[in-house]
Amino acid sequence: MNALAKDNPHTATLPHFVGGHRVQGQSNRFSDVFNPATGAVLAKVPLANRDEVRHAVDVAEQAFKTWSQVTPLNRARVLFKFKELVEANLETLAHAITREHGKVLSDAMGEITRGMEIVEFACGIPHLLKGEHSMNVGTGVDSWSEYAPLGVVAGITPFNFPCMVPMWMFPIAIACGNTFILKPSERDPSPAMLIAEWLHQAGLPDGVFNVVHGDKESVDAILDEPRIQAVSFVGSTPIAEYIYSRGCSNGKRVQALGGAKNHLVVMPDADIDGVGNALLGAGYGSAGERCMAISVAVCVGDKTADQLIENLAPKVAALRIGPGETGNPDMGPLVTCAHRDKVKAYVDGGVADGAKLVVDGRNLKVNGNEDGFFLGGCLFDHVKPGMKIYDEEIFGPVLCVVRAKTFEEACELINNHEYGNGTAIFTRDGEAAREFAHRIQVGMVGINVPIPVPMSFHSFGGWKRSLFGPLHMHGTDGVRFYTRLKTITARWPRGGNGAEFVMPTMK
Ligand code: NAD
Repeated sequence: MNALAKDNPHTATLPHFVGGHRVQGQSNRFSDVFNPATGAVLAKVPLANRDEVRHAVDVAEQAFKTWSQVTPLNRARVLFKFKELVEANLETLAHAITREHGKVLSDAMGEITRGMEIVEFACGIPHLLKGEHSMNVGTGVDSWSEYAPLGVVAGITPFNFPCMVPMWMFPIAIACGNTFILKPSERDPSPAMLIAEWLHQAGLPDGVFNVVHGDKESVDAILDEPRIQAVSFVGSTPIAEYIYSRGCSNGKRVQALGGAKNHLVVMPDADIDGVGNALLGAGYGSAGERCMAISVAVCVGDKTADQLIENLAPKVAALRIGPGETGNPDMGPLVTCAHRDKVKAYVDGGVADGAKLVVDGRNLKVNGNEDGFFLGGCLFDHVKPGMKIYDEEIFGPVLCVVRAKTFEEACELINNHEYGNGTAIFTRDGEAAREFAHRIQVGMVGINVPIPVPMSFHSFGGWKRSLFGPLHMHGTDGVRFYTRLKTITARWPRGGNGAEFVMPTMK
C-alpha cells in the first residue's frame, strides 16, 4: 500500500490515517488525484462514509483521555520533534505539494515555511495557556482562570494550501490538548499523509492526529457527529456558510473562512514599476490560486491606470509558465481541468461584458505538457462592478484593473464588495495610507505590502463574507478557539459559615 501519490502506471490507492495506522477505505467510493502538470491520474483517494468518520471519532475520543492530561511542555516537545522531521524532509513534502497541486517548488517551500511558523508558535503553548490569577478577591478568597481543551476537534481544508492551511489548525489544537481529525482536500491529499506519518514518528500518541479523506458525505458526518466539539474550515464562501450554519445548529464551535476578492489600490504617487512587480507576484503567483492573491488593481486616476497597464502588460505576457517540479517557472498549472475551464469561462465572460482584455493567456500551450491544466496570465482593463469578473472570485491567473476617480471612490468600491479578506494600498502618502487602514472594511490590510498574511503570532481572517464566526485562525484567536475558559474561586475557611441566602458579594 502506498502512502503517497506517485506517477505510476498502476494507480495507487491512498489510505486514511487513523489511530496511528494507515487504514484502507471501506466505502468503495474514490476520487481521482491528478498531476496538474501532465493531466495524468496519480492516485485514487478514498471517500470516507459516516461509519469511517465515526470510527475516527471513537479513536480520537479515546486518545483525548490521556493526551489532554499530558503536560503542555511535553505536548510542545512532540511538536519540536515534528518540526525537526519536517525540516529534514522539506523536499519530499514540497514535491508532494507540487505534484498534486501544481504550484512551483519554491512556492511549495514557502507554503511549508509559513505553516511551520505556526508549529513554532504552538511550541510556546505552556506560555500561551497561562491563565489569570487574582489574589484576595474577597477576604481569604482567591480567583483564577484557566484554559481547558475542548475534546475531539476537526479541520476541513481546501486544495490551495494542502500543508499550510492544516498547519493553521492542528499544531495549536493538539498543543492545547485536543485530538484532531483532518479532512483534507480530495484534490491534493498526500501532504496530509506525510504530516500524519511524521507526527507519529515524532512520538505523538496514536489517535491524537487522524486523517480521513472524503467529500460531502464525510464533511456532513463531521458536522453531525455530537462528539466533535469544534470545526475549523477553510474553503469557498458557499461551503463556509453551509459549514458554519450546520455546525452551529449542531451545537459546535465553528470558524469558517471563505473566499476573497482582494483589491490593491494604486495611488497616483506610487512607484509604478514597484507596483507592477508587486502585482505580478501577488496576482499570478501560484496561478492566482491563493485566498490572499490580488485579483483587482484599483488605479486612482486614468494616468495611473495607463502607466500601470503599460508597465504590467509586457510582464504578464512574459510570465514563464511550466511544470512546477522542473525549471523553476514563475507559475504552474491550475489544479484541475475543470477549474482551468471555469477560469477560462470567466475570461470569455469578461470579454463579452465589455472589459478590455489586454493580455490573453487562453491559448497557452506548454511544450511537452500539452495535457496539463495550464492557462496563461490574463490582464483586463476597464473592469467595472456588475461584471462577473469583478463581482465573483475567479481563483486563477486573471488580474482586473478598475479605474477610480478618487481615493474615496476606491475605498467605497472595496467596502461595497461582498468579500473582505485582504487588501492593500501602494502610496508614498502616509496620511492616505493611515486613512485607508482605518476606513477599509477588510480583515487584513497591507501598506505597500501586496499580500499581508499575518505572522503566526497574529491571527488570520477576513471580514464580511470571507469569514463566518467570531474567531480568526492561529495567533491568540487560535488558542482561544481550541480552548474553553474556566474560572475558579476558592476559599479555605477555618471555621464553618452560616447559610447565606442573598446573592454572594465580596464584602
Ligand atoms: P471548496 O470550498 O471547494 O472545498 C473546501 C473543502 O470543503 C474541501 O475539503 C472539500 O472537500 C469540502 N467540500 C467541498 N464541497 C463540499 C460540500 N458541498 N459539502 C461539504 N464539504 C464540501 O474550496 P477549494 O476549491 O478546495 O479551495 C479554494 C477556495 O478556498 C477559494 O474560494 C479560496 O478563496 C478559499 N480559501 C480561503 C482561505 C481564507 O483564508 N479565507 C484560504 C485558502 C483558501
